[in-house]
Amino acid sequence: MIKTASHFERLDDNQVICRLCPADCQIADGQEGICGSRKNEGGQLVTDNYGEVVTIAVDPIEKKPLYHFYPTSDILSTGPNCCNLKCRHCQNWNISQEKVKTIYVPPEELVNQTKQRDLVGVAFTYTEPVIWYEYIMDTAPLLRQAGLKVVLVSNGYINPEPLKSLLEVVDAFNIDLKGMQQSFYSRVCKGKIEPVLDALRLTAKSDAHLEITNLIIPTHNDSDDDLHQLVDFVASLSDNIPLHFSAYHPSYHMDVAATPVETMIRAYEIGRLSLKHVFLGNIGLDGYSNTTCPGCGALLVRRSGYRTDIVGLNGSVCAKCGADSGIIL
Ligand code: SF4
Ligand code: SF4
Repeated sequence: MIKTASHFERLDDNQVICRLCPADCQIADGQEGICGSRKNEGGQLVTDNYGEVVTIAVDPIEKKPLYHFYPTSDILSTGPNCCNLKCRHCQNWNISQEKVKTIYVPPEELVNQTKQRDLVGVAFTYTEPVIWYEYIMDTAPLLRQAGLKVVLVSNGYINPEPLKSLLEVVDAFNIDLKGMQQSFYSRVCKGKIEPVLDALRLTAKSDAHLEITNLIIPTHNDSDDDLHQLVDFVASLSDNIPLHFSAYHPSYHMDVAATPVETMIRAYEIGRLSLKHVFLGNIGLDGYSNTTCPGCGALLVRRSGYRTDIVGLNGSVCAKCGADSGIIL
């Protein structure tokens, strides 16, 4: 489905600049932007991905990962074709970097599909929801009217103005912070770090729930300096933000060896110096994905694989000491 795109400027000679994401693509008539989802048609920027679904499934919300937003619930997960970054390690490269067949699902139908099952809401995920901006801006209010939650799992590569509008309609985000060096973002992802930091700052100040994920890739972003800088940045937003360190496994154009357990544990220990909630994922280490009380240390939520048990909460506070867990239920 083709729609006029949001957030673009017209230039001379029928050229346009797309202002949706920090790539700020200048696009000549008949050409498309880096993400392959926006095209200049006679001086008008259009998107051909509106409602075009590349995949749809039901997942535990812990798989997004979101640990402190309706734990134990299931969520409808869907996403568009393509992405505005080009990560060398992308695990979903076959749908983020290649054009594939899609199915049109109108906003009302997505809402109905979600309402028919016992689900908390919809997660826009798998590839990059930012490039599905128009569809999400139309669908999210309908989901909310139906009492459903709206989740974005994003690379955070979005300009401030469109993000401000998204923050009005999205309930929870998991945003990737892929590293702390510009050299990492340009070499590995073909992007810029500062706009991602700005998006995280803006989101942390909003009413939306925020969790952050960092995929640790040996020799690329795993030094003590990298990890300390990343943890310090997250702590500067709030020490209550859940930080997920995720283990990398070779994929797509990245072939360094998988992240060792020792590196993951080192990251956990650095994270726990400044943050209340640090989790290790994609590594199968029991005990590193539980939520404990920031007040008394009691076990609040036990996780093993995708099995989740709420064991120590009274509402959203610790059943033992009454401290606020920061978990939304
Ligand atoms: S959304 Fe796509 S077309 Fe627009 S600036 Fe980003 S990469 Fe370029
Ligand atoms: S931002 Fe995510 S979906 Fe896009 S290329 Fe990178 S890892 Fe893949």
